Amino acid sequence: MRLYEHEAKAILKKFGISVPQSRLIYDLAGVGEAFIDINKPIVLKAQILAGGRGKAGGIRFAKDPEEAEREAAQLFRAEIKGCKITKILVEEKLNIVKELYLGVTIDNTRGTPVVMASSEGGVDIEDVAAKTPEKIALLHPNILRGVREYEIRRLIKQTGLGGEMLTEVSSILWRLYDIFRIYDAEIVEINPLVITAEGKVVAADARMNIDDHALFRHPELETLKQERFENPLEQEGQKRGVNFANLKGDVAVMGNGAGLVMSLLDAVKAAGGQPACFLDTGGGLSVERVENALDLLLMKANLDPDVKAIFFAFWFMISPAEEVTKGFLNVISNRKPQIPIIGVIQGVGADRAVGILEKAGITCFPTIEEGVKAAVKVR
Ligand code: GDP
Ligand code: MN
Repeated sequence: MRLYEHEAKAILKKFGISVPQSRLIYDLAGVGEAFIDINKPIVLKAQILAGGRGKAGGIRFAKDPEEAEREAAQLFRAEIKGCKITKILVEEKLNIVKELYLGVTIDNTRGTPVVMASSEGGVDIEDVAAKTPEKIALLHPNILRGVREYEIRRLIKQTGLGGEMLTEVSSILWRLYDIFRIYDAEIVEINPLVITAEGKVVAADARMNIDDHALFRHPELETLKQERFENPLEQEGQKRGVNFANLKGDVAVMGNGAGLVMSLLDAVKAAGGQPACFLDTGGGLSVERVENALDLLLMKANLDPDVKAIFFAFWFMISPAEEVTKGFLNVISNRKPQIPIIGVIQGVGADRAVGILEKAGITCFPTIEEGVKAAVKVR
């Protein structure tokens, strides 16, 4: 799960790393107030879950409230890197003397964390990494004994810093490693870490991704997780214990197993259709789960007039297919769907299941190719 800049900065702050004075705004009405609060030239930063905003026009500057309002209005209307902007972080503008780079991530080739520091921070760090990798100092700490203070200092020294700056930046990187470890992060980055004209060291930007598989260890992030769902149906899917991703298309797709559903999406596209969603019921199908899943697809079809058909494929390895057909029958008798439901059922008890479903008005096909073809034909 990627955090927004403002969420990542709140964590940095909690760990004693300086971040700029800021206000988060959700609409134009907030800009004036933010300007008055901060009371000096500001930066307006589009909050999106993507990097490289500076180059894409997502970072704007303003000296007075009028300019701030103009820039904010443009940002709220703009689409930066394919993302709509629903919130802007308004910050005091820093007087930048130098931009450093600090980061901790996983080095996949070694299977250990890698701590990184460079004096060449800023929007071109990717170029630095590609063309002059020697300008990024690396450290692979021993994960069992942790990172040592002298190792961090040696790393920062390699970036050319000395004196008090060396001590201060080392202490920031030390905390950043802690954050990485404590939050089960995949990456934490401060780019740029800014040295200001006033001699302060401030995290001007922050990036943080948390390992999805470790989220259960961080219940305090649950609300952030809920906010990530772009679509209420996706949230509903989570409540119902199925994996639902909303898409734009004409065939709503479901299957038991993520790999199966992905191949169904491909099949729909190959047949000239567009999948309207991805629904993976997961393994161990029960009547209840099938009921919940089909019901969710009908909700989707009701909300989205583009959806012309429901297509599903279930493979039964252990539990007999005819048992879960009850789930289909319950939903059909409750909701009396108007939309065609087309499917493929294979495995244990498939023949009997197909017989029952056909009687209930569901059209079954022996193969995915045939089923998809029929689903795409519905217009
Ligand atoms: P990113 O492009 O998404 O990584 O966004 P950043 O927050 O890193 O901002 C991009 C660049 O904008 C930075 O590298 C700075 O050069 C510039 N920038 C951001 N904040 C400030 C600021 O407060 N003052 C000044 N002078 N420049 C800033
Ligand atoms: Mn940045």
